[in-house]
Amino acid sequence: MSTETIAVHLPDGAIREVSAGTTPLEIANSISPRLAAVCVAARLKPVTVPQPDEINCCGGHAEEPPEEAAMYSAVDATAERIVDLTTPLTASVRLELLTEKDPEALKVLRHSAAHVLATAVLELFPETKLGHGPATDAGFFYDFHRPKPFTPEDLALIQAKIAEVIARNEPFTHEFEPREQALADFERDGDFMKAHFVTKFTVPGDEVSFYRNGSFVDFCRGPHLPSTGRVKAIKVTGLAGAYWLGDEKNPQLQRVYGTAFFSQKEMDAHFVRLEEAAKRDHRLLGKQLDLFSIQELAGAGLIFWHPKGAIIRKVMEDWMRDECLRRGYSLVFTPHVMRRELWKVSGHEGFYAGNMYTPMELDDAEYRLKPMNCPGHILIYKNSPRSYRDLPVRLAELGNVYRYERSGTMHGLLRVRGFTQDDAHIFCTPGQIEDEVVACIDFAEAVLTTFGFKEFKVELSTWDPSDRAHYAGSDDNWALAINGLKHALNRKGIEYKVIPGEAAFYGPKIDVKLVDVLGRLWQLSTVQFDFNLPARFELEYVGEDGERHQPVMVHRALFGSVERFFGVLIEHYAGAFPLWLAPVQVGLVPISERHHEYAHKVEAELKAAGLRVEVDDRNEKMNGKIRDFANQKTPYILVFGDKEQQANAVSVRTRAKGDQGSMPLTEFIAKAKALVEGQSMEL
Ligand SMILES: [Zn+2]
Ligand SMILES: [Zn+2]
Repeated sequence: MSTETIAVHLPDGAIREVSAGTTPLEIANSISPRLAAVCVAARLKPVTVPQPDEINCCGGHAEEPPEEAAMYSAVDATAERIVDLTTPLTASVRLELLTEKDPEALKVLRHSAAHVLATAVLELFPETKLGHGPATDAGFFYDFHRPKPFTPEDLALIQAKIAEVIARNEPFTHEFEPREQALADFERDGDFMKAHFVTKFTVPGDEVSFYRNGSFVDFCRGPHLPSTGRVKAIKVTGLAGAYWLGDEKNPQLQRVYGTAFFSQKEMDAHFVRLEEAAKRDHRLLGKQLDLFSIQELAGAGLIFWHPKGAIIRKVMEDWMRDECLRRGYSLVFTPHVMRRELWKVSGHEGFYAGNMYTPMELDDAEYRLKPMNCPGHILIYKNSPRSYRDLPVRLAELGNVYRYERSGTMHGLLRVRGFTQDDAHIFCTPGQIEDEVVACIDFAEAVLTTFGFKEFKVELSTWDPSDRAHYAGSDDNWALAINGLKHALNRKGIEYKVIPGEAAFYGPKIDVKLVDVLGRLWQLSTVQFDFNLPARFELEYVGEDGERHQPVMVHRALFGSVERFFGVLIEHYAGAFPLWLAPVQVGLVPISERHHEYAHKVEAELKAAGLRVEVDDRNEKMNGKIRDFANQKTPYILVFGDKEQQANAVSVRTRAKGDQGSMPLTEFIAKAKALVEGQSMEL
C-alpha cells in the first residue's frame, strides 16, 4: 500500500490528513465508534470544482440514462458519488458520511435488500437465473428467469428465507474479476442476462465489479450496506411478469417486488400511507362521486367533466378569473388550432414537435393544435404598439392545450393529453421584474392557502454559466432575471433551493411544490422567464428614451393545469371538499311524504341564497337518505319533519360532526353563506 498522504475534507470544514487507502469507515471510527455504527455509506465529492456535464440543448429534459447503466457501468472517479464505507480513498476528497436519515442511504439499503432477496431465491430455487435488481422510489425489484413461475406460496418461502439471510448478517464485500473471465463464467452457467449486462456496460480490458454476501455473488457496482443485518425491515410485496428487455419475443421474467426500511416502524408507516393514498386515489373517488371520466371511445388522456366535477371546476375558474382581474391581469381567449407557420416562428415546430399532434391540412394551410398558449398571447401583445407606460401587460387565459403523451403513460387527471392551463404571460420592462415576480409569488401563495394547502417548497432553477452556448438571451438578461427571482423570494422571506443547470435554455424559473395532507409533494405553480420568444417574435415597446426595446416576458401558471390541480384537490380532501367547493353543499332529507312541500320550499330558499342543494324526495327511509348523502361526502344534511316544518326550522347534520340539532332556516342560510363567501374550511 502506498504511503502517500491524502486530505479528507469533512463537512464541518475539518481536514484530516490520512494515508491513501484509508476507508470512510476508518475515518468514521476515528471520529466516534458510535458514528461508525450508524453510518450506511459515504458520499465523495471532488475537492476541485468539476467540469459540469453537458446540458441537452433546446430545453428538453435530458434523457434519463437507463437504470442498468447507473448500476453497472464503470464509476466516474472524478464525479460526486456514493461509495461503500469500506472503499479505500485514493485521492484527496470531500467526504460526507451518510447515516440512515439521508435519502440516498435508503437507496443503498433497498438495492442491498434486492441482493438479500436474490440470495434467498437462489438458496430456495438454485436453477433461477438473475436479471437485475434496482432500488425504486417505493422499494426495489429483482428480475428472475426460471422455467416455472413463482407462486404466492413461493413468495412466502422467500420471505422466510430472507429473514435467515438477514439474521446471518453476512458482510457485503466488493470483488473484481477480469471482464473476459466474468463473461466466460456467465456464459458457461447460462446466465444470459448477466452476460448481456457485462457486454453492454463494460468494455474489453475492464475489471468487472462484483458484490458478495456469503456464497451469493452478483455483478454490480454497488454501493451496498456493510452487511445484510443492516436491512432492518423488508417485505416482499408482489410479483409480475416482464419480458426480458421489454420484448415479448424474449423469455418471460418473474419480477419480484419488495420494499425495505431502516426500521419496522418506518415500514409500518409506509403501508399505512399507501392504504391512505389508495383510499384517496382521485380515479376511484372520481367514479364514486361521479366527478369525471375518461372514455375509451373518445381516447386516452382526455377528460370528461361530469356535472358534479364541472361545478367544482366552475368555482375554481371563477375564483381564478376574479383574482386575475383583481390583480391587474387582462383576460383573453385564443384559438385551439393555429397555422403551422406560427409554430415555426415560435420555434415549437423545432424543439417541441415531439410533444405536438401532427398537422391537419385544410384548404388554405396546415394547422396544429396548440400545445402552449404563449404564441397566442404574444400575437395579442404584438397587435398594438406598446409604450413603457402600457407595461406591464399581463394577459391571462384558462387555455386548453393538447400535448402528446405516449399511450400507457396517462394517469387519471394527473397525466393527460388535453388540459387547461391557468396560463398568463407578463410583458414588462427589466426594472419591473422584481415587483412582478413578487406579485406572482403572492398570487401562488393565495392559490395554495385558499384551496387549503398549508405547506409548500420552492425551487429556483438557474443556468450553468460554463455552458453558455446552450442558453438564449444576454448575460445581462440572465443576471437580471436570476437576481430578480432571488430578490423577490428574499423579499417574501421564502426559503428556496437553487438548482444550477436546471433552467430551460430560454430562462430561469421558480417552481412551487405544494405538500398535501399525506406529505406528498406536487409540482404545480411555475414562474418562468423567457428570453427566447420576445426575440423570435421581435416584441417591442417604446421606452422613456423614445427608443425601441425588447420587453421581458414571464410565463406563469399557478394551478398548473386545472385538471391536475383538481386531481390533487380530490386526493388532498379525499373527496370531502370544503363547503365552497362541494358540488352539492346541502342535502335535504324530508322524513316522510307530507314534508315534501316544505322540502321544496327550503330548496328554493337555499338556491335563492346561491347554495347548491339537492332534495332526496324518494320514497325511502330517512336513514338511507342520510347515508347516501354522507357517502357523497355532502357537507350539510338537513333533516325535517313536522316539528321543523311548523317552526320553519331545519335539523342540521354536518359531514364531520354529525347531528348539530335544530336551527331556524334563516340562521342556517346566513351561516352557510358566510362560510362559502369566506372560502372557509369549517362547517
Ligand atoms: Zn448490487
Ligand atoms: Zn407560456
